[in-house]
Amino acid sequence: MMQDMMPIAAHLIRMRDGTIKQLNPFTGTEVWSVPSRGHRPLRHDGNAGSPLDPARDGAHCAFCHGRLFETPPEKARLVQTATGWETLKGLTADQLFDTEWVFRRVPNLFEIVSFDYWEKNYSYFLPPALQTRKDSYLAGPRGRRHVLDIIDARMVRSGVDEATVRATPIEKKLALANAFFGGGHELIIGRRHFIDSAICDNQLASSGAMTQEEHYQYFRFTIEALRDIYLSNRYVRYVAVFQNWLKEGGASFDHLHKQLVAIDERGAANEMEIRVVRANPNIYNDEAVNFAAQRNLVFAENEHAIAFAGFGHRFPTLEIYSKSERSQPWNHSVEELRGVSDLVHACHAAMGPGIPCNEEWHYKPPDADVPMPWRVQIKWRVSNPAGFEGGTLIYVNTIDPETLRDTVLPRLVQLRSEGRIAPMKIAAECDCVPNCLKYNPAVRLQHSSDGEFEPLSGEARSEQ
Ligand SMILES: [Zn+2]
Repeated sequence: MMQDMMPIAAHLIRMRDGTIKQLNPFTGTEVWSVPSRGHRPLRHDGNAGSPLDPARDGAHCAFCHGRLFETPPEKARLVQTATGWETLKGLTADQLFDTEWVFRRVPNLFEIVSFDYWEKNYSYFLPPALQTRKDSYLAGPRGRRHVLDIIDARMVRSGVDEATVRATPIEKKLALANAFFGGGHELIIGRRHFIDSAICDNQLASSGAMTQEEHYQYFRFTIEALRDIYLSNRYVRYVAVFQNWLKEGGASFDHLHKQLVAIDERGAANEMEIRVVRANPNIYNDEAVNFAAQRNLVFAENEHAIAFAGFGHRFPTLEIYSKSERSQPWNHSVEELRGVSDLVHACHAAMGPGIPCNEEWHYKPPDADVPMPWRVQIKWRVSNPAGFEGGTLIYVNTIDPETLRDTVLPRLVQLRSEGRIAPMKIAAECDCVPNCLKYNPAVRLQHSSDGEFEPLSGEARSEQ
């Protein structure tokens, strides 16, 4: 009933029949949730799965740890040692099986934006450090064989006939290999294909199956790669970071991985968002987090991040916002990064491995002149836009934000009590202090002013 008494805001309107109309404040996307379509079961729930073949352990797909020569030469790996986590770079082909990695960073075999694109359009060439890396990898016979095999495989899979592949001079093939050392489309691959105790092929190792520490390291290692891409190619204006999970989420392998794709634009979505932010620099507080708090859509919070059921998305979307003053992920402190990682991890754990999804990172393009917070969206790919959407540009999202919140809440409570996610405030425990995102300098001023705008924590409020 409270909902009906709320002032109507265009972002989220409940009609008398129960239809919920949503408008995305950043993109203008119009979305309806229609009550009769809201309770369709999630497609992957209850899939029994088939028994795993132990003989294929470590070799289920080309990302598995027994098939390292089926991906291009790795750029880095993260290993866990007795003293902590260590990033290893510059390994030769002979050293690939010497250490047990937890995450690997490798070039994507088929780039969305190719090395050729940067070379032809910007006269980009391999920076000296990457040229040295290429030379040293090719210096060993195993490394040279690896690179040539991968180039051949890529040519064949691109439709080049075998005779042409054989006739292509080695020098030309080695030139094509620049894509593996200086390209801007990379993958961060997790070690496990299935969880350690798996007996069935539906027990995939999703983000939520990691420990909190592993997930933090996964984020940190991805951010290391992100920063590296900007530093090695000055023509890059934005690097998209995302994770497609399961086939319906656009993944070609059901082996967990993130992707980083460098582009020479900020991208249409960022351009649109930058215009909106110029008009209202506090929009991420005003129209996202504050609004979500007002409508009871916030479902989890810790000191450095806040999560809510998103509105105005074509797919049911969990949104996690960093509260940091710093816009870029690589400028976050260890604690801030852990705060974001913990909430994202908890969302994945609450969903389980069966829901196809896209995890998208949004952050301020380095050359944008407006402050923007880092936020992560997890979009459940449980429906396909069809003719109705094409004809009207009104999208039907089968799960409305409140239902989405109520779907994840009980799982979060259970996982927290089992110690499987980090400590966090859930639902009514959340502080939901207005303007809790500190990316906006005006809000920071407000937070630090003495007294008048001092935010109240949940504890302080309940004591009053
Ligand atoms: Zn695999």
